[in-house]
Amino acid sequence: ACKQFPTGPIETTQCDFETIESVTDELYNDLHTLVETPFFKYFRLDLYRECPFWQENGFCMNRECGITTVDESEIPDRWRAAALSKIEMPKGDQRTVLPGCYYRDSDYCFLDDLTEGDYVDLTLNPERFTGYAGDSARRVWKAIYEENCFGLSELNLLSSNSRNPGLASLPESMTGALTVDGEDAKECLERRVYYKIVSGLHASISTHICHDTMNQTTGAWGPDLQCFISRVAAYPERLEYIYFDTVLLLRAVARLEPYLSAYDYCATGSHEDDAETIARLAKVIDVARTVGRFDESVLFRGENANVLKAEFKEHFRNVTRIMDCVGCDKCRLWGKVQTTGIATALKVLFELDEKALDPKSNSNLLQRSEVVALINTLHRLVESLHMVQDFRRMWAEKGIED
Ligand code: FAD
Repeated sequence: ACKQFPTGPIETTQCDFETIESVTDELYNDLHTLVETPFFKYFRLDLYRECPFWQENGFCMNRECGITTVDESEIPDRWRAAALSKIEMPKGDQRTVLPGCYYRDSDYCFLDDLTEGDYVDLTLNPERFTGYAGDSARRVWKAIYEENCFGLSELNLLSSNSRNPGLASLPESMTGALTVDGEDAKECLERRVYYKIVSGLHASISTHICHDTMNQTTGAWGPDLQCFISRVAAYPERLEYIYFDTVLLLRAVARLEPYLSAYDYCATGSHEDDAETIARLAKVIDVARTVGRFDESVLFRGENANVLKAEFKEHFRNVTRIMDCVGCDKCRLWGKVQTTGIATALKVLFELDEKALDPKSNSNLLQRSEVVALINTLHRLVESLHMVQDFRRMWAEKGIED
């Protein structure tokens, strides 16, 4: 299964797998350096928000589920709670009109309160095997997949009884009443895109778990090829969706170029360090402009476009809320980072016109946490592709041994 390398065009994008492969190493190196800089490594999150959908009792007691928070004194002054609370936040009605076609309530994400929660240093809390599994984890994934039930598109599915092949691999208890069919031409494109985004994220998380996993017998850490085969490589479409998510995020970064280039990254007090952050980001943006060829214009067209878009947005917002139901702090941390990163990309692609993206008219368009999440999520995805290369090598070596 690992020998199979997806080739040709990546569906719904104008990019192919080979193009992404050709830039993976360079992109990974730049992103890896970038996410270690002070601007990109500190992320604030509220770890104690209650699960809004069900009573969550499944807290993971494994040591690996815990995270280390950072004392505020280590954080640059202007990001501290006291400084942030001075910034006037929209109260009550969040529908703040900004220049261009954009309203604050157009967010695809429930962001944690800027002044609540703890800072974590993402580099000290790597996404890897934690032991979080069982009913709690399954319930969260099930809830996320079930969010792809678009009322409007049910109309298109009346004549279809089949299920999505990806979801068919879910235990019966997980699929419930789902009637999705990923391969069915009658299914609307938006629903397929929703499924790909989620499945790609799931596959990327699984890739990280399998690449940095703990041997339960010896306690040693390292990659587990069999884990990767059974969770990802045995379902080639899952791997393809990691590429799909990568192109989606690259396209968002490319569209954000003027905004990201004008953003204030000063974090260290050292001109040289901040200049290094800016230079690395410029390289990432360059690659994004060349290969980030996701065609957002093919989505949300036709007579019901606005209703469908509103549903899509609502569903993805729910996914970001479902993260409060993840019963393992480290998994919740990375779940929040990555769903916020994807939500930011969706907002950039589907809600913002060129005027809204103009840093001069909208200098406060994105919160720092959105910029940090976007870049860290892109790093996760590209890191997964990098890890896949390791698994391919392991597979090839195994073939020689056998
Ligand atoms: P799961 O990964 O739980 O999947 C459940 C079912 O979904 C599978 O049986 C399969 O049929 C289907 N499925 C699996 N992958 C896909 C896919 N890509 N596309 C479509 N269908 C699929 N664990 C850690 O060790 N470290 C972490 O950092 C971590 N982060 C997590 C973050 C979130 C948001 C969540 C919900 C869970 C996280 N977990 C983490 C738990 C981890 O994702 C698994 O749930 C756990 O390892 C149990 O795996 P499993 O083999 O039972 O299948």
